Amino acid sequence: MAELFTPERRQLVERVAALGPGFAQRASRYDRDASFPTENWADLRAAGLLGLCVPVEHGGLGADFVGYALVAEELGRHCATTALTYNMHVCTTLLAGQLADDLELVPSDRELLAARRKELFRGIVEAGVIHSQPFSEGTAAGATAGISTRAEPVPGGYRVTGRKIFASLSGAADIHDVVAVSPDDSRIRLLGVPAGAEGVSIEGEWDPLGMRGTDSRTLVMDDVFVPESNEWIPAGTFDQVASRWPYFYMSLSFAYLGLMRAVLDLTAAYLRGEHGTPPRRDHPVKQAGWAEMNLTYERAQALTYRVLAECGVDPDAHALRRAWSAMVTTMEGAPAVASLAIRVCGGRSMLRPNRLEQHYRDARCGATMLPWSVEVCLERMGRADLYPDGPQGAAD
Ligand SMILES: Cc1cc2nc3c(=O)[nH]c(=O)nc-3n(C[C@H](O)[C@H](O)[C@H](O)COP(=O)(O)OP(=O)(O)OC[C@H]3O[C@@H](n4cnc5c(N)ncnc54)[C@H](O)[C@@H]3O)c2cc1C
Repeated sequence: MAELFTPERRQLVERVAALGPGFAQRASRYDRDASFPTENWADLRAAGLLGLCVPVEHGGLGADFVGYALVAEELGRHCATTALTYNMHVCTTLLAGQLADDLELVPSDRELLAARRKELFRGIVEAGVIHSQPFSEGTAAGATAGISTRAEPVPGGYRVTGRKIFASLSGAADIHDVVAVSPDDSRIRLLGVPAGAEGVSIEGEWDPLGMRGTDSRTLVMDDVFVPESNEWIPAGTFDQVASRWPYFYMSLSFAYLGLMRAVLDLTAAYLRGEHGTPPRRDHPVKQAGWAEMNLTYERAQALTYRVLAECGVDPDAHALRRAWSAMVTTMEGAPAVASLAIRVCGGRSMLRPNRLEQHYRDARCGATMLPWSVEVCLERMGRADLYPDGPQGAAD
């Protein structure tokens, strides 16, 4: 386990931990107003963390997928909603960076990638450009299945038409990175749609149960011109990521792991009597509940860290199953821990400004998140190894 925390990664975790108290202090306001954590993003930018996974030679901090996971876990401990939005931004840099480097691309695609990501990374590092990643359309479970967003090739780029539901950062991102397909070409394209382009609109209300600061309204694109320079990775690269680097789909879960830690932090303080109520720690039934909470968290973290220690290109069937298991353990573990925390702490713990009730609502959102929702992972695990030639279930 220790090798996950290299000195470089530890420094990055410390960098985000230093921002934590400020994030935690603002979290209730964002939650109450269902407003985007703009100040937190300004802090992330000032700390250089917009370029977390941008390679050092492009001016970034050079973190890999594991480094991102550890940073996201720490961020989730202080503000889960910020961590979830941060995930969308960082994922594009991972796709165009480490993940694309790990895949096989023909030389012309490799050359194209080099040119495109140079501009992508420059925008982030020099201009503080914020990216979102609205892939969901509400039609199919997989990010590579049933994409209805169309990218019609035109001179100099594409005309893009489609709708993306749950577009986190909908009002905050400068560029929405969407998946789309062109007529007579099944390869997936990752296109950066400028937020201010003609034909782009954000629809609907945003008043959800939890993760309220993510501002995940619907992105509508009506014949939007997207310059070809905003196609961040060569067509078909994302298909390869989905089948060969499927750990990508775990990226959301690290925020929820951090949220579990936040629930533990809060519960411990509450039981010690640091929340204005008398200590509760002496009662054996509280201690049993507290032990149970720790057990759930330790399982989720241990499994996640094991998967992080082996993640990379082309996992075998066992590794893939462990990744699904880690997802289920974390995404179901988070609401379980939050629910138990309320029982263990008692009625007064549910009263604001105590953040337990917010953690409880935020934690409930994780299991539903596609493409590796809890149900999808369980469905795939349920089929694995039971058929002579597969199916192990599609990776995405
Ligand atoms: C706070 C929040 C922020 C989000 N941000 C983003 C974002 O930035 N970008 C983005 O792309 N998406 C985002 N999502 C969307 C998310 O990943 C899902 O796409 C979305 O929650 C699906 O909602 P739905 O009602 O259409 O579910 P449905 O697709 O109707 O699914 C309903 C349930 O059925 C299960 N299910 C669906 N298909 C299958 C299947 N084939 N096998 C087994 N079970 C299945 C699902 O697990 C789910 O529990 C966000 C969601 C939330 C809650």
